Amino acid sequence: MRVAVFSAKSYDREFLTAANAEAGHDLTFLEPQLSCETAGLLAGFDAVCTFVNDSLERGVLEMAAQHGVRLVALRAAGFNNVDLQAAAEFGVAVARVPAYSPHAVAEHTMALILALNRKIHRAYNRVREGNFALDGLLGFDLCGKTAGVIGTGAIGSVVARLLLAFGCNLVAADPVEDTALRRQGVRYAGVDELLGVSDIVTLHCPLTAATSHLIDRRAIARMKRGAMLINTSRGAVVDTRAAIAGLKSGALGSLGIDVYEEEAELFFDDRSQEVISDDVFARLLTFPNVIVTGHQGFFTVEAMHAIAEITILNISAFAQTGRPVHQVTPPRE
Ligand code: NAD
Repeated sequence: MRVAVFSAKSYDREFLTAANAEAGHDLTFLEPQLSCETAGLLAGFDAVCTFVNDSLERGVLEMAAQHGVRLVALRAAGFNNVDLQAAAEFGVAVARVPAYSPHAVAEHTMALILALNRKIHRAYNRVREGNFALDGLLGFDLCGKTAGVIGTGAIGSVVARLLLAFGCNLVAADPVEDTALRRQGVRYAGVDELLGVSDIVTLHCPLTAATSHLIDRRAIARMKRGAMLINTSRGAVVDTRAAIAGLKSGALGSLGIDVYEEEAELFFDDRSQEVISDDVFARLLTFPNVIVTGHQGFFTVEAMHAIAEITILNISAFAQTGRPVHQVTPPRE
């Protein structure tokens, strides 16, 4: 199939080209993000392969279908950026990579928790400047603390097990309970109760209408004063302005995020020569107790291999049978 690969970076080219060696699809790597402005580039392609910040809203899907595109192959697990109803209406199939390496994101989540708690980001700079003072670097033992995991699917369940291994008490919130986790000592509760008892809250639910701004002012007010909030799911699960207010008042003790509501305008490119015009994001960067990483949770060799292999598998299955292996369909009304 002729596939337009949008938001293509050097690492996408490397892993997808290797995975495609046998299948032999005709991959064209394009740097721009997919949007209404760039959808014209789809002329002559059968499929489009996209990443997390490409837009697959109704207008884009309509243009894609008009150009003859029949498949959207997401090289990601989340599909909140796709209008599934519109895709179905225009006869465009949607495929995703449901699970590639939950360990990649789960381990990055632990990196954020550990770095924030022990102030590694500050210690690194201090020592390089010859400052060996410990003031301000005081952390706490993870062992014995209560961690709340919201969403115990592929990634959240690994995070829960890692935190159990650190000796934490685990509370989880998920409409679908994981019985194996329960047997390992994880207690399920509602989100409100979880927020009230957790020293660390970590988010691993998808972005849906129900989880958009799940962590807002009200939720932060319910949290233990000074608790740590971690988000490696999708930016808009947290109301960033509410998080900033919480940090300013001390309600939030620290914040670690790998995702940000308005990240599509920022992440995945070198902007070190530019002035950041997003004042909300710029404010986040001023806090000593905030760590932001640029959506790199998935970025391990193992995950990149798996994403590329499964993406090519989806495209090949669609070419042969008209159905990708991991199809995403609109939810039933
Ligand atoms: P998953 O589908 O395996 O698990 C999601 C879990 O969230 C499910 O168990 C589901 O029942 C639960 N859930 C749904 N609505 C909920 C709600 N309102 N409250 C609590 N739980 C709810 O998905 P996953 O593979 O574990 O990924 C989780 C999310 O992580 C993805 O949706 C994606 O947005 C994000 N992600 C981020 C990165 C990254 O690089 N930072 C990489 C991959 C995935």
